[in-house]
Amino acid sequence: MKHLLFFAISAITICCSNASTNIPVKDSVVGAQAEQQKKVPLFVQALLDAYPESLKGFDGDSLIFADGTKMLYDDGRERTWQQKLESCDIEDMAFWDYTDTVLPFRDPGRIRCEAFFRKMYGNTAAEVRNRARTITWCPKLCGQKLLVSTVNHVDRQLQKVSDELDRHPEWKAYLKSAGTFNWRIVAGTQRLSPHSFAFAIDIGVGKSSYWRWDNKGATESDNIKYRNAMLLQIVQIFEKHGFIWGGRWYHYDTMHFEYRPELIRLMELKIEN
Ligand SMILES: [Zn+2]
Repeated sequence: MKHLLFFAISAITICCSNASTNIPVKDSVVGAQAEQQKKVPLFVQALLDAYPESLKGFDGDSLIFADGTKMLYDDGRERTWQQKLESCDIEDMAFWDYTDTVLPFRDPGRIRCEAFFRKMYGNTAAEVRNRARTITWCPKLCGQKLLVSTVNHVDRQLQKVSDELDRHPEWKAYLKSAGTFNWRIVAGTQRLSPHSFAFAIDIGVGKSSYWRWDNKGATESDNIKYRNAMLLQIVQIFEKHGFIWGGRWYHYDTMHFEYRPELIRLMELKIEN
């Protein structure tokens, strides 16, 4: 029966591929749609998969948000990685693969298209706050009240992380949070911190390492030494629920996690394709 099914599917595939080379009107439409499908960049697909409630499509140039507004995906401008960190388009966010190996001068997730996140999470502190709610972080081990965005269900995802971590009293020293929502500029830059959008959380300050603290006076272009004391089991629980970890950056920030499921989805799509 399995074989029969396989042949049936093969026959349909052959039939369709023949049809698209002939030019009857109906089939050429199917062909055009297939062509359009092909043109969707992998990272656009990852974004559509990761944010189904915020994004409803792609028109070939722009992402289409749920409210019908559009945002250009690729502005065609060449930028160095330093320039991408300062200002970028949506496409640039996928410049570095989110992998478990820390490579020199690669910070997957640190390139953020501010306009994209302002559009989804809120354009001002008040707007972000209005779209956020309070969750109880690790009720048994920490019991902290944290404000987290409800956009893209970040609150639910962080609650799932919290539920899992709360079963591990042996990790308690790593779990206390130093905060989630904080509308502010990153020190020494012009860019908004991801904490501005209430989709990021810092935990385990006493166990954490930060590239600027450990490499005094270093700039982003300098060679630096990597350090980490965060437990990888904790990291894996965050990643399972769509959060990336700042410890996977050359410019590491090991207490930091943020909800960026598109970067994790992109790696899955790269393996599938
Ligand atoms: Zn942080």
